[in-house]
Amino acid sequence: MTLATTQVAGDAVGAEPVEAGVAPGSRRRDVVLWVDGVTVSFDGFKALDNLTLTLDAGELRCIIGPNGAGKTTLMDVMTGKTRPDIGGVFLGARDFDLTKRSENEITRLGIGRKFQRPTVFQGHTVFENLELAVAGNKGVLATLFGRLRKTQRERIEQALETIGLRDQRGRRAGLLSHGHKQWLEIGMLLCLDPKVLLIDEPVAGMTHQETDRTAELLQSLAGERTVVVVEHDMDFVRKIARQVTVLHEGRVLAEGSMENVQNDPHVIEVYLGT
Ligand code: ADP
Ligand code: MG
Repeated sequence: MTLATTQVAGDAVGAEPVEAGVAPGSRRRDVVLWVDGVTVSFDGFKALDNLTLTLDAGELRCIIGPNGAGKTTLMDVMTGKTRPDIGGVFLGARDFDLTKRSENEITRLGIGRKFQRPTVFQGHTVFENLELAVAGNKGVLATLFGRLRKTQRERIEQALETIGLRDQRGRRAGLLSHGHKQWLEIGMLLCLDPKVLLIDEPVAGMTHQETDRTAELLQSLAGERTVVVVEHDMDFVRKIARQVTVLHEGRVLAEGSMENVQNDPHVIEVYLGT
């Protein structure tokens, strides 16, 4: 199977990405993930309503919107937890539909998700948590017997460096602060070397200092990977935002720079104005 990114063009909200044969003057983009016309209904209520969204390779995207807008459902669809009634989710090539894959397969294909509450192994050390993550489901025994491959060790060291917990490597995860646990979990995701990282409310409950450090961390991850952040803390979003997508009632209400989105009358009316 190929995961080559598809060359597409078009910036307009909801515009269908066009494959090569791009209109003159339009910007070329490497779309890594494409949610195409997805509808998800719960008992007739549309949590997502014909939603189209494209993510470029290496971008940092913030997704905001009022409660019930469909943000979590969107992440559920991207990770195979929820299947859409209509529409597809494409990774790289247009014929590669993730809605036909299992959650585990989607993880292996390079979409990592961090839920709001950290789910680290409290009784294990920071290093052991990363070891377990790098080894994946079937690698627990190999890990216990110290049979990590060199590349795996390197990946762990790199993750420790990235999340800034090198000096805490021998500490039991249960003793870490809330913020450090969140970073450890991001480190565990990094051990799987994802192309796309989906992160739900990373700074809820963090101190100011941890929040600032998390902003730096997420910014440092983008570029090499695509990072998607759902967050309510608007100060935090302002700090890290490049492209922002505003969801409302299962649809994209606005998309663009933070400045553009903030000044959009529809957005002010349904979200920011309150
Ligand atoms: P957000 O994360 O933006 O707050 P959600 O994606 O969690 O929004 O929810 C979108 C809408 O779909 C809400 O009205 C929610 O009540 C509804 N919803 C989400 N999941 C389910 C479910 N499993 N069953 C029924 N309704 C659901
Ligand atoms: Mg939610």
